[in-house]
Amino acid sequence: MRRNLVEFIYNGKDACPLCDEKSSFQSFFSSKKLVHGVSNDYLFSINIVGCPNCRHVFLNPIPDEDQLLLYYSDCFPKNTSGCFFYDEKKRIALLEGVLKEGDTYCEIGSNANSLVDKYISLKAKKVIMIEPNEQCRSDVPDLDSVHPNSIDVFAAFGVLEHLINVRGFIQTLKTKLKSGAQVIVEVPNVDEYDHNFTNLLFWEHVHHFSRENLVSLFEEVGFRATSWSRSCSAPLCMLATFELVADGDEAFLQNRDLTFQSVRNGVEKIRTFQQCLNEICESIQRRANKNQATIIYGANEITSYLIGSLAESDNVIIIDDDRSKKHMFSGFECLPAVEIDGFLRSRNLVVDYAIFSSHHLSSVFWKNLQGTSLIESGHIEIDVLDYKFDPFFYRFNQGSLT
Ligand SMILES: [Zn+2]
Repeated sequence: MRRNLVEFIYNGKDACPLCDEKSSFQSFFSSKKLVHGVSNDYLFSINIVGCPNCRHVFLNPIPDEDQLLLYYSDCFPKNTSGCFFYDEKKRIALLEGVLKEGDTYCEIGSNANSLVDKYISLKAKKVIMIEPNEQCRSDVPDLDSVHPNSIDVFAAFGVLEHLINVRGFIQTLKTKLKSGAQVIVEVPNVDEYDHNFTNLLFWEHVHHFSRENLVSLFEEVGFRATSWSRSCSAPLCMLATFELVADGDEAFLQNRDLTFQSVRNGVEKIRTFQQCLNEICESIQRRANKNQATIIYGANEITSYLIGSLAESDNVIIIDDDRSKKHMFSGFECLPAVEIDGFLRSRNLVVDYAIFSSHHLSSVFWKNLQGTSLIESGHIEIDVLDYKFDPFFYRFNQGSLT
């Protein structure tokens, strides 16, 4: 039997689906994907971009909606093997915390024949499954067909990233919810893509949400985020719950800060970090003046910063196994870890202060300290600094670590 090749139509360049920005997007990745459906073959062109305005990551241009529906109805029957990509027990556990006896539960996307499906059927008074694909079990084909003010709990597991008009969908959803209704959303988390780049190869995902953009999208429509978690029923996804903002509480939305709060928080952290560095510099200098030695584990940016404001000193010893870094720290001793003990003994130096300039190094080099003259001295103070780690600064209890 001759099969048709359906080549997807992409209707030119689209505006950002979240903020409507039309300017040049940052292009991250392009590829093509041929998928064999039951009746047809489908050729997708994937071009993933980032919006310079709201930082949403999405498919651009966006594929034709009717073609996508045709594709889903032709491919879905292959996906009803009874194997689920999510953890059924985890999903039931999260529904347990939201769904109450007697609720009307509505979900988009078929969940047929799963443990989750059985659990919902037993607990909810009424279940409405929305599924446009006629090949799957569904109660209604779309959200428009659901009665207004009828839903207590709405869930979308791995669905919103597929919707072309996701904002329109959430606006319609708002009219279908009862007062006090809860919305559960699970989508892939774009901030985890460095651990799972396979999402970038996935041709069906129109949107790649970050936590901020997912929450903003719902808040702009009139919802309030009630929880967010990286722990959910599907791997490397995120889970968020929302509720409608009550009438008269719109001030909450107007006051919402859209001015890069996370960036400003980051700047605040940088200031605190620099304050810590300055305090440590003073501490090193004080010790050096009293002929006490300080060792710094790790020849990196943090070490450069610490050393930068110090006078040259024989009493500051940098430890790093990469000998090529030695030239970065002229005026200071820079040794591999195996040489530190001999060096200290030959100079008859007492060290009571050590700095690890990365969290990773603190675990690696802690072993190096054991059995050296450092530990024999009986008292050592340790500071750990790492701006990629939270908390980025901590101080071991002062006193003996032997
Ligand atoms: Zn945007």
